[in-house]
Amino acid sequence: GYHKVLEENRKLYNQVQDLKGNIRVYCRVRPFLPGQSSSTSTVGHIDDGNIMIITPSKYGKGHKSFSFNKVFGPFATQEEVFSDTQPLIRSVLDGYNVCIFAYGQTGAGKTYTMSGPEELTEESFGVNYRALNDLFHISKQRKDTFCYEIAVQMIEIYNEQVRDLLTNDGPQKRLGIHNGSQKGLAVPNANLVPVTSTTEVIELMNIGQKNRAVSATAMNDRSSRSHSCLTIHVQGRELASGAIFRGCMHLVDLAGSERVNKSEAKGDRLKEAQHINKSLSALGDVISALAQKSSHIPYRNSKLTQLLQDSLGGQAKTLMFVHISPEVDAISETLSTLKFAERVASVELGASQVNKDSGEVKELRQQVASLKAALAKKE
Ligand code: ADP
Ligand code: MG
Repeated sequence: GYHKVLEENRKLYNQVQDLKGNIRVYCRVRPFLPGQSSSTSTVGHIDDGNIMIITPSKYGKGHKSFSFNKVFGPFATQEEVFSDTQPLIRSVLDGYNVCIFAYGQTGAGKTYTMSGPEELTEESFGVNYRALNDLFHISKQRKDTFCYEIAVQMIEIYNEQVRDLLTNDGPQKRLGIHNGSQKGLAVPNANLVPVTSTTEVIELMNIGQKNRAVSATAMNDRSSRSHSCLTIHVQGRELASGAIFRGCMHLVDLAGSERVNKSEAKGDRLKEAQHINKSLSALGDVISALAQKSSHIPYRNSKLTQLLQDSLGGQAKTLMFVHISPEVDAISETLSTLKFAERVASVELGASQVNKDSGEVKELRQQVASLKAALAKKE
């Protein structure tokens, strides 16, 4: 009867909400850098969830708006950016898996968001330091009820090969990916280092940064042509029951999303670009398939999506930071970044999911309405 209809309706509604809750997209705009002229910016009005991009006349004057779960303007601090990320950190301690991605063209601020600037201060700490700090902090708060162990791995994917970044011994062997392992280690042969303090974390990250494959590009000589992934493994034991649960968080600084000019890129550079392209589109395909509750999720199409298979989908939570630069020169990359982001954004997907179910939802709504009307008459 009436009750059942309401229940069904709520179930459908929750499915839609789940989608919105499990995949979030935040957009962050980098400020102009010292020495850059800020007279022309392609970024127009910004509010909490919307951003307007102004295309300069040279590129066909006009403007276009995009919506995300959150938009951070050029003056947003690291602390502000992190405060909207914090709930995800807690969920790792509760046994959920989380993926946080930084996407965008080289120089748009991915590494700044995830790690911070080169000259690191406590104020400029990026998401990964803050996440670990929070984990240390909360696990101490819960010490009377839980015993937590926190350990990290850091790997990179370069030309579809997985390498360990937390190693000091020379050329690294390629590592294999194993999904569905009991301990939740997708790369069991990469070093797994227990950490208990921020100082240890900083030392480890420095080793990792040094090992990262770096090749200069015209846009940014710190640029990296690899995806780097810091994985934080948390194991919790409830003291009273002895029950053990695990959660892990992947913090992924993706390779630059810019398309390379075919005439310029040759040899190794072209190969790198093709690998990056392939893996970024595979990631986009997986996230959008998940959001559409597609029956087939194409994890196998890249090493990146294979690596994260157990942490993308199901109960896992995903957050993607998309970064854009405000410069006029960057306009075409800015637009393609925002289009990619919109494709994976829950705002859009939530809406399209409603449309997909709309026949059923509409019917249920009508039933609810007529039952309500019938009830009202009785009273
Ligand atoms: P990416 O990793 O995407 O290539 P970076 O994070 O290295 O880009 O950023 C490029 C430059 O811009 C760096 O010098 C970085 O410190 C600076 N930068 C990026 N984002 C910000 C920001 N939000 N505020 C201040 N400086 C930033
Ligand atoms: Mg970077």
